[in-house]
Amino acid sequence: MLNDIKKQLATLAQNDLLRHRVTLDSPCQTNIIADGKPKLSFASNDYLGLANDPRLIQATQESIEKWGVGAGSSHLVGGHMTPHEALDVKLAAFVGAERALTFSNGYMANLGVVPTLTGRGDAIFADRLNHASLIDAAQLSRAEHHRYPHNDLRALEALLQKSTAKRKLILTDAVFSMDGDFAPLPALQALAEEYKAWLVVDDAHGFGVLGKNGRGSLSHFDMPFAPNIIYMGTLGKAAGVSGAFVAAHADVIEWLTQRARTYIFTTASSPIMASALLESIKIIEKSDDKRAHLQTLIAQLKTDLDASPWQCLDSSSAIQPIIIGENKKALEVARALADRDIWVPAIRPPTVPKGTARLRISLSANHTLAQLKQLTTALKEIA
Ligand SMILES: *Cc1c(COP(=O)(O)O)cnc(C)c1O
Repeated sequence: MLNDIKKQLATLAQNDLLRHRVTLDSPCQTNIIADGKPKLSFASNDYLGLANDPRLIQATQESIEKWGVGAGSSHLVGGHMTPHEALDVKLAAFVGAERALTFSNGYMANLGVVPTLTGRGDAIFADRLNHASLIDAAQLSRAEHHRYPHNDLRALEALLQKSTAKRKLILTDAVFSMDGDFAPLPALQALAEEYKAWLVVDDAHGFGVLGKNGRGSLSHFDMPFAPNIIYMGTLGKAAGVSGAFVAAHADVIEWLTQRARTYIFTTASSPIMASALLESIKIIEKSDDKRAHLQTLIAQLKTDLDASPWQCLDSSSAIQPIIIGENKKALEVARALADRDIWVPAIRPPTVPKGTARLRISLSANHTLAQLKQLTTALKEIA
């Protein structure tokens, strides 16, 4: 068995698919120390620059004095503390849902929701570019798993029409994590209503960034919380901490509380996370200035690269990928940027389809226009 693993590792190395962890000797911010060297980072999903915000740090310090470090047990057994409860209530009110339930992270939220709502005899219709956690969730559910071409509404409708499944569930990222484009949520909801399907929306990259006061992608599209919509937002990206939540009709949330295995069979996250998040939601609500600056950066990046050989994908989110193609070449460009003290990760399969290795530029409201200029100047030099 060990020899097998050795061979597999060697194959990864041969195909430029071996990943290396960089160790940060600084907090998550735009100027970091990576493997001992200063770098300008475009690698985090900390879109509003809250991960190292003094107000969150203070809320956490106050919380630790009052609540200690650990929750001690799962939510249903005795680990559900006042900050956890307050966070559930706050998140529901913030996104405008009847109820919300927090999970330890987005991966576990997805793994909890999908198998709780569907099982054998049911069918899941999922966008081909969905996040890995949604793919795993669909497999865990044992429902039929149909994957439709990216954002292809006609293909989705054909599948829905043919299906005789008892329950149907449409599964999509709201902002696609490696392409940065949006799902056509209103059209997906129209199909969901027509074919009596659940619509599960993973808003890992929209929550905090899009919509009124950062309420997320549903708000961005002016969509009310219909009873068939299940909204998942993560709290480790724009919210700057860690965790995730599911917001939906009160009965759905009650059912998840009773049945979602990744909620029930795990220790509640630390109460200090919940306190930090309560502060974070308060800040998100008031951060129109940060969101406006982020939009300025996005527009400026496109303008700067317009006349260059580098073409960003058509994305209006903070995720701006440049498709390179070959793994080796993507690594070379990332290395050339690193030589200029800039860190942009090269994303390779299986995170993205084969032959579409890319640089994933991720912008934060903490980036300055001067820092952005540093990136685009370096890219032009490397071209
Ligand atoms: C990051 C991400 C997740 C996982 O969330 P975590 O809280 O990091 O576990 C789920 N879905 C999408 C689309 C993501 O980008």
